[in-house]
Parts: sequence; C-alpha cells; structure tokens
Amino acid sequence: MNRVIAFVFLVLIAALAGGEARADARYCHAVTDLSAAKPGAFACSGTPADYHQRSLWLKIEVPTDSRIVYVHQTRFDRLTALFVYEDGHTAAQTVRRGNYGAHWRLGGQIAFEPPVLAAPVKTVMLRFDGLASHELLRIRLPGADEANAQAAALPVIVGGTIALLTLGALYTLSVGIALRREYLLWHGLWAVTMVVWGLLWSQLALVAAPGIAGWSSQICTFLACLAVTLATVSGVKALGETMGPRALRFGTLMLGFLMIPIGIMVALETGAALGWQRTALGVLTLSVLALVTYSLVKGCRAGNADAKALAWAWAVPMVTLALTQIVDMDPWVFGGGPQVVMLIAAALQTVWLSIAVTIRIAHLREERDRARAAEARMSELASRDALTGLLNRRGFVDRAEFMIEARSSPEEHFGLLLIDVDHFKRVNDTYGHETGDAVLCRIARRLERWEGPLCVSGRIGGEEFVLGITGLTPIGIRQFAESVRRGIADQHHPELRIGHVVTVSIGVASADRALGFQRLYGWADQELYRAKASGRNRVAFHTGDRMPQAATG
Ligand code: GH3
Ligand code: MG
Ligand code: MG
Repeated sequence: MNRVIAFVFLVLIAALAGGEARADARYCHAVTDLSAAKPGAFACSGTPADYHQRSLWLKIEVPTDSRIVYVHQTRFDRLTALFVYEDGHTAAQTVRRGNYGAHWRLGGQIAFEPPVLAAPVKTVMLRFDGLASHELLRIRLPGADEANAQAAALPVIVGGTIALLTLGALYTLSVGIALRREYLLWHGLWAVTMVVWGLLWSQLALVAAPGIAGWSSQICTFLACLAVTLATVSGVKALGETMGPRALRFGTLMLGFLMIPIGIMVALETGAALGWQRTALGVLTLSVLALVTYSLVKGCRAGNADAKALAWAWAVPMVTLALTQIVDMDPWVFGGGPQVVMLIAAALQTVWLSIAVTIRIAHLREERDRARAAEARMSELASRDALTGLLNRRGFVDRAEFMIEARSSPEEHFGLLLIDVDHFKRVNDTYGHETGDAVLCRIARRLERWEGPLCVSGRIGGEEFVLGITGLTPIGIRQFAESVRRGIADQHHPELRIGHVVTVSIGVASADRALGFQRLYGWADQELYRAKASGRNRVAFHTGDRMPQAATG
C-alpha cells in the first residue's frame, strides 16, 4: 500500500513539473520597455523572457467567429487590448490592476469586446505591463455560441455552487457546535473559506467591495492555501488515533500549516519568483494530499466510521485538487478552468458530508432510542413482581409517592390499603404450593381491575397485597376498602374444595396532607394487625392522627 501511494505521489510530482511548460509559446510575443509605443518584431517560438518589469506583447489571430477576448489573470499593472481590423482601423481598451471597469466578468475573467465596425477584427494585440507570470496566463477567444452560453451558464454554475457551499458551511458549523465534533468545526471553517474564495475569485465580491479588485487574486491564492490547511486539520481531527503513529499526525499537521506561510509568500509575489514558488506550492499541496490519503485509507481499514464518511466526501475534491495540479483544465467550464471545477468539487463534497453527517445523527438517535427503550424495559422489569406481574414493593412505593405528590389539592386524601390473605399457609399446606400460587395470581388479577389513574395495586410480600387510591373522601375510602374485601372473598377458586372461601384482612390508613409513605404504611400495618386480631375477613380503618377505630367486617 505504502509503495503504491509513494509511486502515485512521484508520478504526480513528475506530471506537475512537466505541467509547468503547458503555457509556453502559444502566441507570438515581443518584449519592450514600458515607454515603447510599438512592439517591434514578434517572435513566434520560444518563451518570452525578462518581461516582469517591462511590457509583454502578445499577438493573436482572431478566429472569424470570435468577438470577445477573455483574459484570466490579474497579476499585472496595466493591460491594453489593441484590436486591428482588416481595413486597417484600430481600437484600444485598457484596464489597470484593481480597476477593471465594465471589463470584469463573473468567473474571474477580464473581457475585451471590440466595437463593431465595417470590417472584421483581424488580430488583437495584448500588452501586459508588469506581468507576474506568462506561464499562468490564460487567454480565450470563444466562438459566438460559446460566448453566449458562457454568459448564461457561468453565473448559474458559480452562483449555485457558492450557494450550496454556504448552506453546507452553515450546516456543518451548526452540527459541529451542537454535537461538539471538532472536525466538523474545522470542516465548516474550510467551507466558509471556500465560500469567501469563491466570492473573491468569481469577482462577485466586487459588487459589495469594489476596492478589493486589485487584491482579490492575491487574497484568493492565500485563501486556497488556507483551505488546504483547514481541510487537513479537519481530516486529522476526524481520524484521531486511527491515524497511527503520532509522528504521522504531527507531520501531516505541520505540512498542512506550512501551506499558510507559503501561501502568503506566493500571494505577495508579483515578480519572476512566482514560477518556482507555484511549483513549490504544488509539491507541498500534493504532499499534504498524499499524507491525508494514506491516513484516510488507514482509518477506513481500522473501521473508523468518520474516516469512511470523510474518505467518500473528500475523494472528489482531493482528486480534483490533484488533477488541477497536473491536468490543463484552463479551457474547462467556459474558461472558468480549475477554479470552477474546484468550486463544484467543494460544493459536492460539502453536500456529501452533510448527508453523511445527517445519516450518522439518525443512526446515533436510533441507538439512543434503543438504549432508552432497553433501560425503560429493565426498570419496568425491576419494579414488577415475577409471579403476579403486579408492581413490587419498590415499584409500588415509587408510584404511591408520585400520586401523593401529584394530588391536585392538599385536602385530597390518599388512602393506603394493606391486604393480607387470611390463613394462606393452610392453602399451601392443603393443596400445595402451586395451587397457592394460582390463588395469589387470581387475587392479583382482581386487584388489577381496580387499577386506573387514581388507583394503583402491588404485591409487597408473600401473600400481602396493597392498593393506593386518591380522589376519595375518608368515607369513600372506607367504602372502597369494604368493596375490595368483598370482591376478593367473592372470587371463585376452582382449584380449591367447594366451600373453601379465600378471604383477606385489610388495614387502611388515609391522610389529607403530604405525608410520607412510610408513616401511612406504619398506620395501615397497625390496622391490619387489628383486623387480624379481631377475627380476620374485615377492614380496620385509621384516619390521620385520630385514634384507631373499630374494625368492621
Ligand atoms: P394470617 O391469616 O395470619 O395471615 O395467616 P397466614 O397463614 O396467611 O400467614 P403466615 O404469615 O403464617 O403464612 C404466609 C404463608 O404464605 C407462608 C408462605 O409459605 C406463604 N407464601 C408466601 N409467599 C408465597 C408464594 O409466593 N407462593 C405460595 N404458594 N405461598 C407463599
Ligand atoms: Mg402475611
Ligand atoms: Mg396471611
């Protein structure tokens, strides 16, 4: 794997070095002093030299169907387009650095459109004063159809991608902040940088700030480098430990941050050094790309989900960035060239990553919901009695305390009924433990029928049940306890001998103020004891602090 990456890297560097020669000798050229009025003799082979502080003249034969000359380069002091018509007429148009007037077009291009005269234009001479780099010059003379298509399509493509990038930037930044994912924040900053870069490069920003025209190209160079830095940091943060050795993480980050000083240097350079500096920047960019690719592949192999999402999302812009370094994309997308291709790739990447992040959030939510459901199930199981399915002591106490607290008025009574099966030991002894269990379950089913928003039941001991009820007066609670006693005594138990009636004794306590469950339970237990002592199958009732009353039955 390492060898493959090293090989690809070397091929890319070789291609990059070769790619520099692409702009050579496309047009006949001449170099004069800045004061010269005419170009003198043109050379139609070789590369122009020594033009940086002087005037470089290019002579271009104008194809019959072309009318507009587009120049995609702003690193010069002054540029004049001199149109020569077939009948000898001439027309000149001049722009200066930072003052392109009506000549600037969306997509970072300067357009010269000769006036329509009787004869067609034969040649155009472009005179660049103080040009930074002949190699980086891009000149297009599109046919009429292509020029029309460019005027219609380029603004849509550039505007659309910048809009997508803006949305992507806002989305990843907000998700990064909400989920506290550092790599998403770096990614959001990358997208913001790409948006600013796109606005400046396309010269859309000139609408708001015309003063930056002279600087926009240099600011763009710097922003492009900053974008590589931010993307690198985002990748390294997302991959984290899966990147392996610390040296690799550190090295990748260092190279990423090195893009900033080199970017500043290239942005400020307007002289001859621009050529080799660009090559150095290209090699650095490819090195960073190679390291990030290597780390992404490692991260994917280690099963890192973030690495997979990033690998897919970054694949398009990374391949595009590498291609811009080695393939001549200048004529692509109506002369928008590598910049528009990069903008589209960046927008696609942001859309892709936004989708990946959304899917991941959905997965996380599903996992959270499942965990919550399991937790709720566990806690439900922990609060239920295994034999009868009624609430156990813990579950009942929780519910009862909740009901006591949730009473709508302090005067509202809460009644607690402690229900103990009479002589249950005899049932077990006579019919066996299993029959005893069946009887307990049948009593539980009967108790359940009283359950509702105002009444809760539970099993808090072997053959001891409990009911809690609100919303009744003390008299109502007493009547309710009576009906519970009768209801259980009336149950038919087919397992038992005819005539064997299973009865319960009930101790009742109720209170009209926020009284702890334990106090009520103590009182009800006393009453239960009394009900048993006075003969069983009866209800003994206690209200608040009053003296215990006589049992009924
Ligand atoms: P009393 O009227 O005084 O309450 O008499 P009792 O026989 O009901 O009371 P005692 O406390 O002497 O006996 C309770 C019996 O309940 C003893 C125990 O075996 C039985 N028991 C407790 N839990 C279970 C259970 O889950 N299943 C069955 N079948 N019996 C149980
Ligand atoms: Mg008992
Ligand atoms: Mg009992």
